[in-house]
Amino acid sequence: MNMIVCIKQVPDPEAPPASFKIDPATNKVIPPKGVSPVISPFDENAVEAALKIKDAQGGKITAISLGHNLLRDVVKKPLSMGADELVLLEDEAFAEGDSWTTAYALAMAIKKIGSYDLIFCGRQAADWDSGLVGLGIAEILGLPSVTLARKITPGNGKVTVERVTADGYEVIETPLPAVITVSNELGEPRYPTIKGIMAAKKKEPIAWKPADLGMETAKIGPAGQHAKLMKLFQPVRESKCELIQADTPEESGAKLALRLKEAKIL
Ligand SMILES: Cc1cc2nc3c(=O)[nH]c(=O)nc-3n(C[C@H](O)[C@H](O)[C@H](O)COP(=O)(O)OP(=O)(O)OC[C@H]3O[C@@H](n4cnc5c(N)ncnc54)[C@H](O)[C@@H]3O)c2cc1C
Repeated sequence: MNMIVCIKQVPDPEAPPASFKIDPATNKVIPPKGVSPVISPFDENAVEAALKIKDAQGGKITAISLGHNLLRDVVKKPLSMGADELVLLEDEAFAEGDSWTTAYALAMAIKKIGSYDLIFCGRQAADWDSGLVGLGIAEILGLPSVTLARKITPGNGKVTVERVTADGYEVIETPLPAVITVSNELGEPRYPTIKGIMAAKKKEPIAWKPADLGMETAKIGPAGQHAKLMKLFQPVRESKCELIQADTPEESGAKLALRLKEAKIL
């Protein structure tokens, strides 16, 4: 079983909201200072999905990440969890893309890898929450896709997927190769072992540039964007505090109830 997992480096979603800043002139997020980025949490679930299959049936797992300033200690995490190879698509030409240009670049890299049965993505990236890239890869490569997987069982040229729904799950079967986006219901991703961390440190990622992938420049970076970001802003949060003045607890209770009624909260 040859498996590919797409992993995205994102600003740590656990960082305090106040540490996120936006440059309104360029509509860009300024990475929070002193907060190390992480692999998008759903992508760790995707790595775990591939590792579970490798544990049960054997196989090879290749992780791919596209971005700039990819921190090796961050993007090597799948290797330390048990993946076999890491491919990095890191080039200025990829900057300022959107979900479509990302899907195109990843699909071209997957084509270059050539041999794949299952391609995994997270259900959505923790920064933009678009949930588009996996489906874009499937479309570009002409593959079937299943979203929101919580259990994945491949065998006999097909894969059976339990797919999360609003009130339970449904079971879907599709032929291989296929693209699957993985949800957190799959279960906690495993911790890297010390042995895994040491092995990952020694492993050199494979680096591909746009030219290595025979990419059309009109399809990457700003030229390839299908979506135009009109405005990026942080919502203004306002809170007011009103103190109820009273002589006794009973009086303050009654006054508070009246005030809440006036404000149509009660
Ligand atoms: C209009 C617009 C403007 C943007 N501007 C900026 C910006 O200023 N700064 C900025 O940092 N980003 C920006 N982005 C986000 C970025 O360019 C891409 O949209 C992003 O890489 C694609 O991720 P997504 O959030 O759409 O992924 P989703 O579709 O939510 O991701 C789903 C899954 O696809 C895979 N995946 C997604 N991206 C990657 C990746 N890069 N490498 C490997 N796997 C991946 C992962 O498995 C992920 O879980 C912008 C996006 C848009 C649409």
